[in-house]
Amino acid sequence: DARIVPYGKLAFDAASTVYHYATEIFEGLKAYRTPDGAVQLFRPIENVRRMNNSAERMSLPQMDEDMMLEALLKFVSVEKDWVPDKPGTSLYLRPFLVAVDPCLSLHPVHQCVFCIIACPVGSYFPNGLKPVPILIEEQDVRAVRGGTGYAKCGGNYAGAMRASDRAEAKGFSQVLWIDGVERKYVEEAGGMNVMFQINGEIVTPELNGSVLPGITRKSCIEVMRGWGMKVTERLLSLDELLEACKTGALEEAWCCGTAAVIAPIGELAYGDDHYIVNNNQIGKTTRRLYDEVTGIQWGLLPDKYNWTVAVK
Ligand code: PLP
Repeated sequence: DARIVPYGKLAFDAASTVYHYATEIFEGLKAYRTPDGAVQLFRPIENVRRMNNSAERMSLPQMDEDMMLEALLKFVSVEKDWVPDKPGTSLYLRPFLVAVDPCLSLHPVHQCVFCIIACPVGSYFPNGLKPVPILIEEQDVRAVRGGTGYAKCGGNYAGAMRASDRAEAKGFSQVLWIDGVERKYVEEAGGMNVMFQINGEIVTPELNGSVLPGITRKSCIEVMRGWGMKVTERLLSLDELLEACKTGALEEAWCCGTAAVIAPIGELAYGDDHYIVNNNQIGKTTRRLYDEVTGIQWGLLPDKYNWTVAVK
């Protein structure tokens, strides 16, 4: 009984499980306006699949992939005029699934609501791409082995707020999470994955269950491998990263995710130690990657990977 209706409030029973036990998952993707005025999505099937993976982890029902994709395409088709056309802008889409069983006892979920909302968004870097400072989080952890790190569920973000609030108050853009088990390995940034160029090789933390499998991350890896670059997904210890900062082996670092696409890292702070990356400048690989991925998203470059999906 899906419908496309004006934006508004949702009212569910006050005992709905989502309000008490955070039984919900969500996704985030964008619709882009191309130079000829058309509208396209970027790899929406990946979001649809990730949504089902998140649902599985949270014991929420699986949804039909074709239905989700059709819902996204129909919704954007109706709301097409909201897709802005200024450089760097897009229409952010937020599908979400919430459990609304009015039941305080801990029983399996039976009743869910699936919604998509949208909002035009400006460029993440309105004054052009700019390196950001990142604080390595020493106290809180985001995820643990066997936990929900790989799922896009609200609880992961709620538990991360305290650290990001503290980092923001100190002038940092995001935190860099360290693994929650050994407190030794780099995992990801607040809302983005991370990549490092160390001695010419690209190193990114492997998907070990506590890192969110980013679609931008996946795309960056495919693009760089296509360029013939060596990209390694592996454990990267904080010690190794800081050593690479000290010796200058760390040439470039960036975050990647739907919001900013690529955010160059200009500074890494660990306690009172501050490490400047690439003289706080945008590196060559970072820039090239940004231009390539955003070029495909906004239809400025040919989509040789077949990643974009036209909205009719
Ligand atoms: N890591 C976290 C914790 C995120 O919230 C996001 C954003 O969705 C990402 C990584 C990047 O994922 P994607 O590239 O699919 O936006």
